[in-house]
Amino acid sequence: MTRKLFWEDMYSKEFTAKVASVEGNQVVLDQTAFNPHGGGLVGDTGSLNGVKVVDTVKGNEDSIVHMLESPSFTVGTEVQGKLDWDRRYRIMRMHTSAHLLSAIFHKQTRALITGNQIQPDKSRLDFSLEDFDRERMLTYCSQANEAITKNPPVKTYFMKREEALKIPGITKLATAAPPDVQELRIVEIEGYDIQADGGVHIKSLGEIVKIDPLKFENKGKSNRRMYFTIP
Ligand SMILES: [Zn+2]
Repeated sequence: MTRKLFWEDMYSKEFTAKVASVEGNQVVLDQTAFNPHGGGLVGDTGSLNGVKVVDTVKGNEDSIVHMLESPSFTVGTEVQGKLDWDRRYRIMRMHTSAHLLSAIFHKQTRALITGNQIQPDKSRLDFSLEDFDRERMLTYCSQANEAITKNPPVKTYFMKREEALKIPGITKLATAAPPDVQELRIVEIEGYDIQADGGVHIKSLGEIVKIDPLKFENKGKSNRRMYFTIP
């Protein structure tokens, strides 16, 4: 199991860790600030002792695997990890944007979120909605931007699984059931949204600055897709 430094401090950009296992160019550390690919988010990139980390993925037994550009290190080596912070910070802002949009769409239309892809340059939300109206979608985006100007806090905390599952809409963004663990990690945009979620987020909504809707697409009978970006 890798200690998730990004759960303790999502703004941690640099850290020291020990190499726990190595397989070719795949390295597992005892602890890391690199958030792995999953939940619609791309994996973090950066470096370990100056060696490029090209991707980060989930491994066996709750481990986090750093994919290096070339094989390096032996077990026990102490490494200095450094995130590509500009990229990661955009992912955090995009991810919280996706939660906010999902919450507003769901509140206004009961739409269910069927998928999302969070990337640093532009992100995508998929939702199922029969009655689709572009103008109305743009209104919901304006409501999201109004929420951003109010700058409510975004809180993360842990809650007992049975308690968390009683909260309405707690898994509306998740495409899969929450993991089979006793404690669920909760991400709450105060006053707007509450989700079970393992990903990285910002601390206050104002950090998004603004959501720019780029494109709406119809993908079949009730499948809709929205692309958006942030400054
Ligand atoms: Zn999420």
